[in-house]
Amino acid sequence: MLYREIAETYAKIESTTKRLEMTDYLVELLRKTPVEIIDKVVYLTQGKLYPDYVGIELGLAEKLTLKAVSQATGISEKKIRDLLRKYGDLGASVEKAMEHKRQVSLFSFGEKESLTVEKVYKNFEEIAKATGQGSQEKKIRLLVELLNLATPMEAKYIVRTVEGRLRLGIADMTILDALAVAFGENKEKRAIIERAYNIHPDLGYIARMLAENGIEAVKNIKIEIGVPIRSMLAERLPSLEEILAKMGGKAAFEYKYDGLRIQAHVGREKTVLYSRRLENLTEQFPDVISAINDAFLGEEGIFDGEAVPVDINTGEMLPFQMVSHRRGRKYGIEKIVEEIPVVLFLFDVLYLNGEDMTLKPYPERRKALEKWIKETDNIKLAHRIVSGDIDEIKRFFNQAIESGCEGLVAKNIGTESIYRAGAREFLWIKYKRDYRAEMADTIDLVVVGAFAGKGRRKGTYGALLMAAYNPEKDRFETVCKLGSGFTDDQLANLPRMFEELRLDRKHPRVWSEMEADYWFLPKVVLEVRGAEITLSPTHTCARDAIEKGAGLAIRFPRFTGRWRDDKKPEEATTTQEIVEMYKNQVKKVA
Ligand code: ATP
Repeated sequence: MLYREIAETYAKIESTTKRLEMTDYLVELLRKTPVEIIDKVVYLTQGKLYPDYVGIELGLAEKLTLKAVSQATGISEKKIRDLLRKYGDLGASVEKAMEHKRQVSLFSFGEKESLTVEKVYKNFEEIAKATGQGSQEKKIRLLVELLNLATPMEAKYIVRTVEGRLRLGIADMTILDALAVAFGENKEKRAIIERAYNIHPDLGYIARMLAENGIEAVKNIKIEIGVPIRSMLAERLPSLEEILAKMGGKAAFEYKYDGLRIQAHVGREKTVLYSRRLENLTEQFPDVISAINDAFLGEEGIFDGEAVPVDINTGEMLPFQMVSHRRGRKYGIEKIVEEIPVVLFLFDVLYLNGEDMTLKPYPERRKALEKWIKETDNIKLAHRIVSGDIDEIKRFFNQAIESGCEGLVAKNIGTESIYRAGAREFLWIKYKRDYRAEMADTIDLVVVGAFAGKGRRKGTYGALLMAAYNPEKDRFETVCKLGSGFTDDQLANLPRMFEELRLDRKHPRVWSEMEADYWFLPKVVLEVRGAEITLSPTHTCARDAIEKGAGLAIRFPRFTGRWRDDKKPEEATTTQEIVEMYKNQVKKVA
């Protein structure tokens, strides 16, 4: 098949913004494409060579592309750069340069019509895969070869594709529509094709199946270990009352962890991880791989979960940005893994020991998860309750927020509660807090206890238990665990510093529901900066002041470095002050 046919379709698609017209042009193209290369034509039209999850990308650096263009056209790199400044796009610049050259020198480009789709795809593939010594020259040579055979218009699209910037604006759904039309339109077929896409999001593969073996073959496309499944998403409702009504009065409520969604494919030979956008995350999370291999008791499985970084000393969840630092990092991962470990909270199982689990209702999937996953330090099941009692759910919500979650995800527990791959529906409903209490000011807190350190902090304290002062009751009420902001020296010295304040049990003026490893006489005051104040079922600070049964906690507290030796413990920040700060600093979350 001539590449010109594809390029002409691209030009038509670019000339419209209407989805229906785009679909028509695609249908026309698919109908005249030979079956054997229909997958390649689909990938090329998406601007790639394989489905994204394979992780092989085109994306030739501009510098190299410029060199190739200059070599193929005989136009200086400087001149092409000038054009690039004018048009802002190398593809368009190449086209203009070639047209201009054709006019002034009667130079002919692509007249022989010998540039085929097969050839373009093959060279692109070699460009994408070339690595190591001499690979730059090789890439340039492969591109020059294509450009030598191309017309100006073809060159435009070749350059854009090789740079990874084709961007025709065709959504995957438009390609699905076009496939359904090109191979015999009816609603039922469209649904079959879409289901196949949701559990096997490879449009080239589906197109080829459809063209070669018909709709029955597409119907038989099955979940496969190693091929990511499109994630199920959640709808949103503003109140628990509405959520319960939608769910028929009762539902499962799970913590909504605030991290990175990970779909783990545990195979017989290897384990791979995908993000929600189906990128391959395997190399960034070697720790998750070994953890899930350990925790899974079966042969093969696909699991859905959220990875959250945790503070090794306080055991508290950290902001998810700390995981995003791992993205795109291949080297030095071991160090990051040690410093900021992640816990993967599993909330679903989509495939288990040869069986497709997606069509089973949620309670059955959860049961399977409980049976086949042995919880470890790094693999846990999503914390949840099954309830229809608003008060109980509210308490659970506060607990989720305090632990560092965004809120809850309500899950339908009826027979209809299948895993709807790729869909955002009311089978899952998220309930997030819509406010955030930010802390502008630092506060001064009293050290009342400590927790033993782990890992690098073995032998010293991992975190201190901090309290605010309640003058009315004359007692110290806990408000957070403090583990960051200390220098290594300070950390090493903590046990010695607190030695003389050590008690063998909790001081009577300390109100704590947390069991510390060490208790101290309340005396030392530290200045602390926190990110926000949240309601807390575990901490006792200002218990019941805002909400019955809930106290207040400081999230992400950090020692500022200032020891408030000038303050007596009774001069620390009061619980009432924290209540005021909570009330004053409530901000809407965007
Ligand atoms: P948001 O920005 O609210 O996370 P989103 O569009 O990223 O929205 P949604 O599908 O609306 O995603 O919300 C569900 C997301 O919440 C999932 O993609 C997943 O990453 C995360 N999540 C955390 N805990 C759970 C859980 N227990 N069950 C399902 N999803 C969870």
